[in-house]
Amino acid sequence: MLRHQNSVPHRHRFKRLRSALRAASSHSSLALALESRLQKCGGPEWGNRFTCRKHACPACRDRSIAAERRKAERHFAGAQNTEMALLTVILGTVRDVKDIADVMSKARKDLRNLIDAERRRSRLWDPVEVMVWLETDACDLADYARLGPDKQIQVAEFMPVFAQTEGVVWIPSLHGIVRFGPGLDAVRVRAAFERKWPGHKRVDVEPFWADQTLNQNLGRIINYACKHTCTTDYYDAETGEITPCEWETSWLKDYYTWLSEWSRGFQATRIFLRAKKQKRKKRTASRFDENNNDIEPLPFVYGNSIFHRDYYY
Ligand SMILES: [Zn+2]
Repeated sequence: MLRHQNSVPHRHRFKRLRSALRAASSHSSLALALESRLQKCGGPEWGNRFTCRKHACPACRDRSIAAERRKAERHFAGAQNTEMALLTVILGTVRDVKDIADVMSKARKDLRNLIDAERRRSRLWDPVEVMVWLETDACDLADYARLGPDKQIQVAEFMPVFAQTEGVVWIPSLHGIVRFGPGLDAVRVRAAFERKWPGHKRVDVEPFWADQTLNQNLGRIINYACKHTCTTDYYDAETGEITPCEWETSWLKDYYTWLSEWSRGFQATRIFLRAKKQKRKKRTASRFDENNNDIEPLPFVYGNSIFHRDYYY
């Protein structure tokens, strides 16, 4: 429901989450554990060096975004803007936040199957790489009519018969980078993704901006993909204006408590599929693990970061 019509400071959102976790601590061990870690993060215990590494924590999230950017810049060094694009896939809708885990795990398999199938058809897909992050949108079904026209169609496609007419619906998506290499272009890549994920504007493949450097594009996209804005965009059909509306406190609590269960933390919300190995080429040393396509544990050190920005909160 629309309670917070005006944007509130991001710090206020974090405070709302913390107080909701404290209120739930008596009956939820997960809420208690998360609040305890958030409370200790950067605190005087362990010489101010303890980092909670939770998505809920603005400081740790900023550090993880900075680390993701550094790793992406290293991995894609030397690539051309013309072979890179921002990839978005809207994965579906779920009513229970816990079900996002299944959606994410299916997305991992689907992505791999898509790339494998295209590689069987054409060697042009051998160099294709995908690095994407989970981002979750949410809205109350009671506010369905306030969503933008595209979002209304998308939600209706996933939930053709509304079993209920109110309560939160979660809309997990992937945002990130696709590198398609020579011989392919954004149009062909988009067509392949749309075959896998058909639906109204469900897939977007937007080429890197030519007036930005490769690293500027990577930074812009990774900030966008990992932003955790936790707002729902509502649309005014008369004025055409879009108003971001703060998530309900209970949604914040449910979402971040659920995310805190993932033992691999930030890595769990990323999918990375690498280029097919060329047999004749000597494999270059990679910092990415081959089996799960994920990045090594993040080198967290508590301290000031130039990437700390209020708008990540
Ligand atoms: Zn933290």
